Amino acid sequence: MANTKAYAAKSAGSKLAPFSFDRREPRPDDVSIEIDYCGVCHTDIHFAQNDWGMTEFPVVPGHEIIGRVTAIGRDVTRYKVGDTVGVGCMVDSCRSCSACESGLEQYCLEGMTGTYNGEDRHDGSITYGGYSDNVVVSERFVVKVPEKLDPASTAPILCAGITTYSPLRHYGVKAGDKVGVIGMGGLGHMGVKFAKALGAEVTIFTRSEAKVSEAKKQGADHVIISTDENQMEAAAEAFDFMLDTVPVQHDLNPYLNCLKYDGTHILVGLLEPVDPALQAGALVMKRRVLGGSLIGGMPETQEVLDFCAEHDITCDVEMLDINNINEAYERMKKGDVKYRFVIDMKTLKAA
Ligand SMILES: [Zn+2]
Ligand SMILES: [Zn+2]
Repeated sequence: MANTKAYAAKSAGSKLAPFSFDRREPRPDDVSIEIDYCGVCHTDIHFAQNDWGMTEFPVVPGHEIIGRVTAIGRDVTRYKVGDTVGVGCMVDSCRSCSACESGLEQYCLEGMTGTYNGEDRHDGSITYGGYSDNVVVSERFVVKVPEKLDPASTAPILCAGITTYSPLRHYGVKAGDKVGVIGMGGLGHMGVKFAKALGAEVTIFTRSEAKVSEAKKQGADHVIISTDENQMEAAAEAFDFMLDTVPVQHDLNPYLNCLKYDGTHILVGLLEPVDPALQAGALVMKRRVLGGSLIGGMPETQEVLDFCAEHDITCDVEMLDINNINEAYERMKKGDVKYRFVIDMKTLKAA
């Protein structure tokens, strides 16, 4: 019998359904992990539906994994049986290029190996993610979960959390800075928490009047309704840093005008062409910077967990029975979750 229970999409049109397969035998640097929780990311939906045309079916999504170590290979030094650990969006990289040597494995020059739908660098098999009861991962791609953190609500830190934390750190956001966070979903609400913990004055930009009280509850100092031209104009040249979490095409120009000279606008959600077109003058005339950022490297993924423990930060989550994963996807497509579903893997074991 196969050693791993999971949920998989078998084709682009099919719903997720029970699936079983064999995890590899642990290699000398591998950690075997029994999975307790797995967050549900929008990327999971894109892969299950083959929205990007690159899915290998069947696909077992899930890259916000929290579990306990059940066995270690003979070369493992950083973990022992019983440790609570996490696995995020990647499980391998070349480990020797300039990016990998800098602890920026997400930018590996040979391409990182995704936690799911990635190609294993040793045996060529396709990786299966965290909608499963166990996973086997090289210790370099495992992080330690501080004891203080609640494991279930820590799971989304491994993707939604690090995605927003990394650019705030890289661009040196500090106490007193004025930070705008665009979008109020899974990424945006984490961005608010981190920016506040770094001492910034935080403004949420949202299209929806209905989200104003929620944004304040999340700790935002101010809220701007982005569809209100008067409010946008009143915010001209007011911000040091803009964290843009919106995953669909949107007009960047009004936001660029909200930056001070030398201000920075970082995209973490958008992967498509910018439309409407960018007014380059808004960058040139004020030495503003427009950039992007992808998750974070392994040292920084450990750093964000330690930062969360230090500042009492977790993700707001709704616990999910894996039998309801398809309904959860439908709700996520409508933005109907505050702010992340996390699968309780006991429900898979019982299934
Ligand atoms: Zn993700
Ligand atoms: Zn590399």
